[in-house]
Amino acid sequence: MPRGLLITGGPLWAGPGKFWPQGAVAAVDGVITYAGPAEGAPKPPQAEVVPAGGGLIMPGLVNAHCHGAMVLFRGLADDLPLGVWLQEHMFPAEARWVSDEMVEMCSRLAAAEMLLSGTTTVGDSYFCLDGAAKAYASAGIRAALYHGVIDFPAPGVPDPADNLATARRFMERWQDQSPLLTPGVFAHSTYTCSEATLRGVADLAQEMGCLWHTHLAETDEEVGNSVKANGGSPVAYLDRLGLLERLDTAVHCVWLQPGEDELLAKRQVAVAACPGSNSKLGSGWAHVPALLAAGVKVGLGTDGAASNNNLDLFGEIGLAARLAKVKTKDPAALPAEAALGLALSGGAACLGLNGVVGRLETGYACDAVVMDLAAPRLTPCFDAASHLVYAATGANVRHVVVNGRQVVGDGAVLTMDLSEVMAKVRELAAKVGAPL
Ligand SMILES: [Zn+2]
Repeated sequence: MPRGLLITGGPLWAGPGKFWPQGAVAAVDGVITYAGPAEGAPKPPQAEVVPAGGGLIMPGLVNAHCHGAMVLFRGLADDLPLGVWLQEHMFPAEARWVSDEMVEMCSRLAAAEMLLSGTTTVGDSYFCLDGAAKAYASAGIRAALYHGVIDFPAPGVPDPADNLATARRFMERWQDQSPLLTPGVFAHSTYTCSEATLRGVADLAQEMGCLWHTHLAETDEEVGNSVKANGGSPVAYLDRLGLLERLDTAVHCVWLQPGEDELLAKRQVAVAACPGSNSKLGSGWAHVPALLAAGVKVGLGTDGAASNNNLDLFGEIGLAARLAKVKTKDPAALPAEAALGLALSGGAACLGLNGVVGRLETGYACDAVVMDLAAPRLTPCFDAASHLVYAATGANVRHVVVNGRQVVGDGAVLTMDLSEVMAKVRELAAKVGAPL
C-alpha cells in the first residue's frame, strides 16, 4: 500500500521565488507529488496529514559538513587556535573515547539536535561510522556518511595501513542499505594524508561511485606549511597531483589564494563553508560571495559540536549572511534567499543530492519543516526568507518530515527516547571529564 502524506494549513516557501500564502505539499512513498497552493492540492489516498497550524512550511535544511559524534566533546576545550585544539585536545580525546558504541549513542543525540532544529540531511565525516549509520537510519534523518582516512592510528583503524580498506568495507556494507543513507569517503586533510593516501581515496571513491570530501585551506598556518612541504597551497598541491578535479567537496576554504575561487569552479569542486566553527577557532572567513560569483557551489556546515558548539544550521545561515556583509561592507552581499540557498541546494550539491533535497518540488524527496510563525521573534512576518535568515532559530521548528515520514511533532522527536539518549551521553561525558 502506498504511503501518502499531506502537509497543509500554513504558508509555503518551497524554494527561491516559490511562495504561497496558503500552501500544501503532498507526497507518496516519500517523494513529493505536489507542492503549491493549498487550493486544489490533491490528497494522496490513505494520506497521513501534518497540520501546519499556521506555521511556515519550508524545505528541510542540509548540513553539508559535520562530525556528529563529537557532541560528546561539546565545550570540552574552547577558546583555542585550531592546531592546539586539534592536536592537544581533540585527537587525544578521540583516541581514548571514540568507539562504535560511543559513535552510535552520540550520533543519536546529534540526529535529535539536528532534526529538532530543522536539519533533515547531514553530511557526516568521522570514524567508527557503522554506529552513525545505525543511529541516523533509526532516527530517520537523511545522511551522507564519509568514512575517515588519516595517516595515523584512528578510532576503529589502529593500523593506518588499513585506512583505505576500512573505508571500503564501510561503503560496501552501507551501499543500498537504506534510502536515507549514502556512504562516501573523507580524506582528513592534505596535512594528515600522504600523496599516496590522497590518491588512494580518489581511486576508491571513483571505483565505488561515491563522493569524497576533505578539509582544505582552513587556516593560514595550514597554507604556509603546505607551501613549505608541498611547494604550493593545499588547493595548488591537489591540482598539481591531478586530484583537485577528482575531489567532490572541499570543507572550509577559508584561506584560498588569488585565482583559487575560479580554479575550484573550473574543477567543479563544491565548498562546504563552516562559519560558526571557523569564527570560534579564529581561523577566518570563507569568502562566500566571491566563491558564488566564481560559480562554485557552496553549502554550509556546522562542523562538529566541539568547535561550534551546536548543530543548529539556522545559526550558520544567519552568520554566513552577516559575515558576508561585515567583510564586504555591503549589506546586499549574500541577500536572504542566497544565504538560505547555501543550506538548501548548496548543501545538496556538496553531498551529491542535487534534485533530491533542498527544495519542495515534484520529484524531490519529501523532507520538510514547519516553523512556528506564532513565536514572538517571528511576529509579524512580511517575508519568509528574511525571517528564516535573520530572525529564526532552530528553536522555532515545530514539525519535521523526512522521506515522507514525520520524525518531529510539536517540537518533540518521535523516533527515539531522547531523555534516555541524553542520560547515556551524560554517562559517557562523566568518564571524559566532569560535566555539570
Ligand atoms: Zn570538520
